[in-house]
Amino acid sequence: MTDDFLNVIERPCARQCVRAATEADPQILPATHGRYCSRCWGRIDQALIQAPELTEHILGNVTSTGQAGGERVDATKDAPLPFNEGAFADANELYSLLAYWCGIWADYLEVHTPAPAKRAWRRKSGTVVGLPAGTTPQIGARDVGLMTRWLRERLDNILDLAPEDVDEFDEAIRDVWRMNTRWPRIEKPRYSDLECPASECEAKIAVYPPAEAGGTKSVACDGGHYYSEEEFDELTVQLIAQRLERARLARKAGRQRQSAGRTDQQKADDVRAALWQKYGWVDGKPGEESA
Ligand SMILES: [Zn+2]
Ligand SMILES: [Zn+2]
Repeated sequence: MTDDFLNVIERPCARQCVRAATEADPQILPATHGRYCSRCWGRIDQALIQAPELTEHILGNVTSTGQAGGERVDATKDAPLPFNEGAFADANELYSLLAYWCGIWADYLEVHTPAPAKRAWRRKSGTVVGLPAGTTPQIGARDVGLMTRWLRERLDNILDLAPEDVDEFDEAIRDVWRMNTRWPRIEKPRYSDLECPASECEAKIAVYPPAEAGGTKSVACDGGHYYSEEEFDELTVQLIAQRLERARLARKAGRQRQSAGRTDQQKADDVRAALWQKYGWVDGKPGEESA
């Protein structure tokens, strides 16, 4: 028996995740990261990998030049350039949600938060508001990267902590995929014909190129549901099988209609075609009988 198999018996994923393509014969995924399976872990990890570059990209859109250049983004002054409030709000939201969660998990793990989480602009009540003033796209990416690296290094431990907080963290981090859709990069996601199979979602599924050199592509719907590459392949195979089956049934129905409504002329044509196929060609290729 493999280790994986023993794991399934002793430690299934806390969410009882099953492999997507095997609903008829459900195969529960083992808990390989804290109390969760590699899919639950990957959904969070892949979002964290994308977050720094996404932050740089969004901050580059704050001033309407639309480039991730080195312009200053300073919310405390009157913006001298046309100012994209949507981009600023999204960059802030991403930054503050990461700072917030670094704080939550640091308390649980009794370790220090990474420096940017401490520097994040806070209200008197202590709630995180967002980016420190004067953050350039590069500094934003660097600071977000320090927080995401901190989170990724501890992710297995985090996934062993309070399940209701893990669920909330998981939900919050889905914003990365939603923001990816709102702020498309030069390397655009490729859209698949698949609709998201999550209940009542049906959003389009996008395949994102790797966010870092040597990384893996990631797959998520526009509604923020994440899929592993393996699951995506399985879903694609299912879709193709469904289409082939539909096409086969349509052809069968078409043949039945056809044979019911054929004229004598069509029947004569069919006979001629069959005769030609049988006697006109040798070995399936015309003209070879003379060779
Ligand atoms: Zn799982
Ligand atoms: Zn979805």
